Amino acid sequence: MRSTREMGAVNSEKQNAKENDPASASALFPSMVRHRRHLHQHPEVGLELPDTHAYIVESLKSLGYETEHHPRGGVSVTVGGSDPSATPMVFRADMDALPVEEPQGMSFRSVRSGAMHACGHDLHMATLLGVAEHFATHTPPRPLVFAFQPGEESDRGALNTLKHRNLNLEDATTFAVHVNAVLPSGSVHYSRDTFMAFGDWFDIALEGPGGHASAPERAGNPILAGSDITRAFVGLANELSEARARVVATVTEFLSGNTVNVIPTTAGLRGTIRTVTEAQRAELHRAMREKVIEIAEAQGLQATLTIHDGYPAVISDAAFIDRALNTFAAAGITDVHEMEHPSMVIEDFSYFLHRWPGAMVYVGAAVGESPAFNHSAEVLFDEDAMATALKLFIALTETP
Ligand SMILES: [Zn+2]
Ligand SMILES: [Zn+2]
Repeated sequence: MRSTREMGAVNSEKQNAKENDPASASALFPSMVRHRRHLHQHPEVGLELPDTHAYIVESLKSLGYETEHHPRGGVSVTVGGSDPSATPMVFRADMDALPVEEPQGMSFRSVRSGAMHACGHDLHMATLLGVAEHFATHTPPRPLVFAFQPGEESDRGALNTLKHRNLNLEDATTFAVHVNAVLPSGSVHYSRDTFMAFGDWFDIALEGPGGHASAPERAGNPILAGSDITRAFVGLANELSEARARVVATVTEFLSGNTVNVIPTTAGLRGTIRTVTEAQRAELHRAMREKVIEIAEAQGLQATLTIHDGYPAVISDAAFIDRALNTFAAAGITDVHEMEHPSMVIEDFSYFLHRWPGAMVYVGAAVGESPAFNHSAEVLFDEDAMATALKLFIALTETP
């Protein structure tokens, strides 16, 4: 029996079978696969991605584009449209990999130990290069900007890319895809409102007198308080959750104590918050503060809770989605689904969507029957997803 990783490689070599595909997507597919595999083999993590950056710049230059590029701000190009007064459209691809060790098994496995394109950003870049290749020989109906940004995973790289002169646009719409390793390959998934969650994080410091382990009644116990807080946060999250708007408040780190017979004086907790609406987010933050004080005071402890703002939610523009759905249908893209609830992951494409209306959608890229999700070392992405994504981008340029 083939291993799943081998199946992934085999699945990825289906481009030969695509020769009869009428869409322009098939003509561009082999070069997208070539780009994807090169980028997959040479992943870089963070904001400074010198090799990835150089590869994108060279690829765009070889297609005849003039690039704007900044060492920590990515690469962009502008394409003139046949109607220069039409609203420009900004397409974005992220460039960074994750600090994950890729297992053996893929012919184009990462050559860099401790770095892997486990979120599929290699497919995003390769697809946008495919779009650029298409428009190197076709004039789009509207001006376009292709933006390649570094540092999506945790560095708010979008904010650097948005400073490009190419992106100094009053009026525009914006669009991006994210490949999803557990959704059926080639399927498209959208939301009319929140597509991905708000992601904040918190830390809590608990402090008390400490004491002898045999006399808990004489000493507030920060471990006990920390445990109560951990459980209470789950309760708060459940109370605020709605069918289409789940809430998460998870303690992921708990440090305290150093021996068996002393109640420690301190504990430190950290964790993740995910919410779907601004109102829910404000309410959860308020309730968490109240709960921490209540639990700490009841046990005679001092407490501080600090909540750090993370990425804002990725929120689709409903009017843009409606126009996009019509365009997709006209282009024969029919495997399109409205999501039941937002994805609880986060994405800094939210900063693009703060500037202009638009949307991000998932394109399914599952391989095999029990696929691993994005960020897992075991994750595989079906390269066919790029053909679907390419069609979405090209069709969208025609949206009225
Ligand atoms: Zn990711
Ligand atoms: Zn990602």
